Amino acid sequence: MKKMIASLICLFLSLQHSFALDFIDSENFAIECDHVDPLCSVRDYFLIPKNHDGSSQIYLCGHSLGLQPKRTQEIMQTELEAWANLGVEGHFKSEAPWYTYHELVRNSLANIVGAKPEEVVAMNSLTANLHLMMVSFYTPSPSRYKVLMESPVFSSDTYAVKSQILFHGFDPKESLIIIEPRQGEDCLRMEDIEKVLDERGDEIALVLLSAVNYFNGQKFDLHHITNKAHEHGCLVGFDLAHAIGNVPLDLHNADVDFAAWCSYKYLNAGPGAIGGVFVHERHLSSPTLNRFAGWWGNDPNTRFQLHLQPDFVPVARADSWQLSNPSIFALVPLRASLEIFDEVGMSEIREKSLLLTGYLEFLIQQIHSDQIEVITPKDPLERGCMLSIKVNNNPELLMEKLHQEGIICDFRRPNVLRITPIPLYNTFYEVWKFGQILKNHLNDSTEIL
Ligand SMILES: *Cc1c(COP(=O)(O)O)cnc(C)c1O
Repeated sequence: MKKMIASLICLFLSLQHSFALDFIDSENFAIECDHVDPLCSVRDYFLIPKNHDGSSQIYLCGHSLGLQPKRTQEIMQTELEAWANLGVEGHFKSEAPWYTYHELVRNSLANIVGAKPEEVVAMNSLTANLHLMMVSFYTPSPSRYKVLMESPVFSSDTYAVKSQILFHGFDPKESLIIIEPRQGEDCLRMEDIEKVLDERGDEIALVLLSAVNYFNGQKFDLHHITNKAHEHGCLVGFDLAHAIGNVPLDLHNADVDFAAWCSYKYLNAGPGAIGGVFVHERHLSSPTLNRFAGWWGNDPNTRFQLHLQPDFVPVARADSWQLSNPSIFALVPLRASLEIFDEVGMSEIREKSLLLTGYLEFLIQQIHSDQIEVITPKDPLERGCMLSIKVNNNPELLMEKLHQEGIICDFRRPNVLRITPIPLYNTFYEVWKFGQILKNHLNDSTEIL
């Protein structure tokens, strides 16, 4: 056992590029992994939902809604009291003045997405932000008016893009280029993305892809895609819904034009949480960019000259895309969550994630069932925490069975279960337990499937 612990510590220490790990399918191994896991105690910062019998759920659904940090209630209470005690004066006189409250999350968000602080702002929700970004970065001309997206794509993104295309007087049928996985494959190939850009790049106004795909968990090389698209004169935006807080990002250096995200998935900021955007530095003080304006995007120094019927003076930060003053009660849970990200750091989170998801993959492989197939890329550099499992027979029933055993995951039509161990609050033991339960049900398949 001592030897195992020693090798595990080595595993944790020297992990960066050695993915061929010696995992073992055993309860003891999983428990020992948790013992040597440097992030093991971070789980205590979260509230883990319970089953009817009082035991903790095995919550593998953080890709859909992250769990609540315990600190959230405390900070929420503080702000409720500030409102109760200070009324309007809370804008300037509370401990964390509401007037500048959105600035409290700026540095943490910048770290998480790899940006300069002035390039990010927390505001609105994801789809609303995609629209605001397209107001600025989708400005089609008669010769360059197309948008490149990927398949499978989340419905809301397609709705948003099609409505923008229509808004500009173009036909979505002709203007939307959707790049699909090859016949018989589940993920996109970089060479196919390159090919579309090489062949049709000069018709494309905007490339709008996910950084991590919501359905199959594929993670894209943002640097490469952005460079390639820029060579052809396209602007490039990324939807970070499944990437932010999941994988390390480097938006500034990748030269991405813009990005938008929601914060209720890997960022654990609560249902419908406040989203955010990244706008690259080079666009921040562009005088020619279209943008929709509101008082909160104006330079704070002249924001209150309401009586002068002033012209909008955008502040030279991503803040200038804000329209309204933000909901303080939406920013509170984000703050509580970002404290944890600040403390732990994205590289440590990623390090554990590679092990945890690697272990999940290993356990699924051990089952040797022809009922299931992992469709997420095998290369850990091309995925985040989530594994998507294609289930050949009756996936809904399998999910129901897992649910009865206290496992929370989700199902995406037609036949995919999404399973996500989150390094901040899931354990190796939980992943092992999931593997056991899955194996038992699949071996029982004549009965249940
Ligand atoms: C979760 C998700 C959304 C959700 O959109 P909201 O505007 O936050 O409701 C949109 N797009 C993608 C890719 C998602 O994963």
